[in-house]
Amino acid sequence: MDICLRGGRVIDPARGMDAEADVLLKDGVVAKVGKGIDEGPGVRVVDARGCWVVPGLIDLHTHLREPGQEYKEDIATGTRAAAAGGYTAVCAMPNTVPPNDNRAVSELMVRRAAEVGVVRVYPVGAISKGLKGESLAEMGELRDAGCVAVSDDGHSVMNAELMRRAMEYARTFGLTIVQHCEDMTLSAGGAMNEGLVSTRAGIRAQPAAAESTMVARDIELCALTGARYHVAHVSSAESVRLIREAKARGLPVTCEVTPHHLTLTDEACARYDTSAKCNPPLRAAADVEALRAALADGTIDAVATDHAPHSAVEKEVEFEQAAFGMIGLETAVPLVLELVRAGRLSPADFVTRLSAGPARVFGLPGGSLADGAPADITVVDPDAAWTCESQTLRSRSHNSPFFGRPLRGRAALTIVGGCIVYSGERQA
Ligand SMILES: [Zn+2]
Repeated sequence: MDICLRGGRVIDPARGMDAEADVLLKDGVVAKVGKGIDEGPGVRVVDARGCWVVPGLIDLHTHLREPGQEYKEDIATGTRAAAAGGYTAVCAMPNTVPPNDNRAVSELMVRRAAEVGVVRVYPVGAISKGLKGESLAEMGELRDAGCVAVSDDGHSVMNAELMRRAMEYARTFGLTIVQHCEDMTLSAGGAMNEGLVSTRAGIRAQPAAAESTMVARDIELCALTGARYHVAHVSSAESVRLIREAKARGLPVTCEVTPHHLTLTDEACARYDTSAKCNPPLRAAADVEALRAALADGTIDAVATDHAPHSAVEKEVEFEQAAFGMIGLETAVPLVLELVRAGRLSPADFVTRLSAGPARVFGLPGGSLADGAPADITVVDPDAAWTCESQTLRSRSHNSPFFGRPLRGRAALTIVGGCIVYSGERQA
């Protein structure tokens, strides 16, 4: 059914728009944006007053866990969590079981997404076979099967020569290399950030330099090869400085940051809360501050969730034994809105970092409400007050440190290709 979103605040930095307007969606595309649109017969009118109407949010970093770990999440539950969080597209990371290092797995993900998914799913293929960092996966085959980027996420590509060749191939195939930056000889199995908190807690820790040394190496390889290179979940002030410098050199380097690295410090691990255990680990306050500044000035191109569902089996254990990662699709919007309310990020930048920015990084469709663009739209109620509770989460896993945190703002409506895939309760 065609839809007219009436009277919302339309924020579309891609076309320089921030104004009250109607948005008419017809035949799965944006037909018209303007004031006082006559929607015509048979069109469903939705009252969007008091809400932001923005191009659909795109997550560059989602672990959907299918195939192989459906007890944590699958494409049906993961895409429903995405829709409830305001996302119209997610990029599915390759550390499934088996890993997405070949055409068969990519095609399975694309097919399952078409069958049971409610948002767009773009697979990310592996850089190396089996994510082992030893020999390259067939990138041409992965691209032809629908992969939009390649990554060994969860692991760093430690071998510099292999990374160089990966970049050369990726460049040939027009794919972005996504690196989980961690010198694993330096992180050495550390379960949290190295600093005062880890010393007090007596937890084995990894220094921030485990990330930034890898960022520095890869930037040099990027200069050598000319490949598009993207730093996943950047977490430290030093990494941000290196990326800012690389961009000033004109290198095709981009990066993303997670909502949790923007809002929590390593203090969240002080009481051995395994839901706050993630990799890269939550850092010190000075790092959080540097990330916020870099998100505002555009050094950081995108917010990405690193949605990493785990069951109680992996999380309700001792801190050092617990799996890394937290869910994030359903809490990203209110957490980033905290920065908007604090005056650290403009509403237009909020939209850019969650939609047009990620679209640009992987060359995906979306990110704008231009006439004829796919009707992927998120209606955000910026003032809705709520708290995250396990019984209302769509995700199959509940590993989040944000339970009980008072949140403000959430998706009111998520539309993919002109179809409503999520509709929340509007606050009075
Ligand atoms: Zn990672």
